[in-house]
Amino acid sequence: MKIHFLGTAAAEGFPNVFCNCDACTKAKQLSGKNIRTRSSVIVDDVLKVDYPPDVYMQALRDGIDMSLVKDLLITHTHFDHLNAKELISRMEGYAHGIEWPLNIYGSDLALYQCKQIFHEENGGREQFRLNKLQPFKTYNIGEAKVTPLLADHDPNETCLLFFIEKENTSILYGNDSGWFPGETWDWLKGKTIDLTILDCTVGKTSNKFSRNHMSVETVIEVQKVFREMNVLTDHAKIVTTHFSHNCGLLHNELVEIFEPYGIDVAYDGMIMNINKSQ
Ligand SMILES: [Zn+2]
Ligand SMILES: [Zn+2]
Ligand SMILES: [Zn+2]
Repeated sequence: MKIHFLGTAAAEGFPNVFCNCDACTKAKQLSGKNIRTRSSVIVDDVLKVDYPPDVYMQALRDGIDMSLVKDLLITHTHFDHLNAKELISRMEGYAHGIEWPLNIYGSDLALYQCKQIFHEENGGREQFRLNKLQPFKTYNIGEAKVTPLLADHDPNETCLLFFIEKENTSILYGNDSGWFPGETWDWLKGKTIDLTILDCTVGKTSNKFSRNHMSVETVIEVQKVFREMNVLTDHAKIVTTHFSHNCGLLHNELVEIFEPYGIDVAYDGMIMNINKSQ
């Protein structure tokens, strides 16, 4: 599987363009991998996770043909993960020469926000197929099998993580979440994971089990527990993403922190090719 990281920042982007903190100021000066847009990935050019406000710019920046995307998975409705109004650009009359519909998968709240757009536009419903997901149920989506897992994130809505399997290879898309809920740990028992993508919003803390979002220490603890559970394949990769400027850490500093653990730090535009399980 090819995993293309389109964005790797938390809600306000890194730098936050309204912010004059040290991290934002340095990120602007250094640029390059320190410029992070809102988190999203695209798998094999056809399966997208989340629809942040930066989709338009990300597609132009990385030469993404958005008309190839057949399936869209939504983790939750925070504005950095679902900017439903942008879907108008994909409606008939706005976009030409593309195949309809787009399959959208998410919780009832995520689908409700999409439906509101069709209502406002007085149309477009037939150009999107809305599919409500139940946690821990496995769905055939395109050529992949996708199982939504529960996150520890916003208690006001069902926040999902995704276990994506294709061609004997598996990805755990693990943001936004703090230390996983018990049901998610239980479901992962006996699985094999080739690529784990983890939330590292808050940077360094003293809490191994941080709630809502993970920290450096939480990510390292997840790796430890995964090893104890024997879910990681020999060549398994763990990648951190969804960084907030409030963590105060620039790309090189994050790389330095995670290097001794063999954990990678995602950056905007990063592409990984994940091989079959061994
Ligand atoms: Zn987020
Ligand atoms: Zn800042
Ligand atoms: Zn969130």
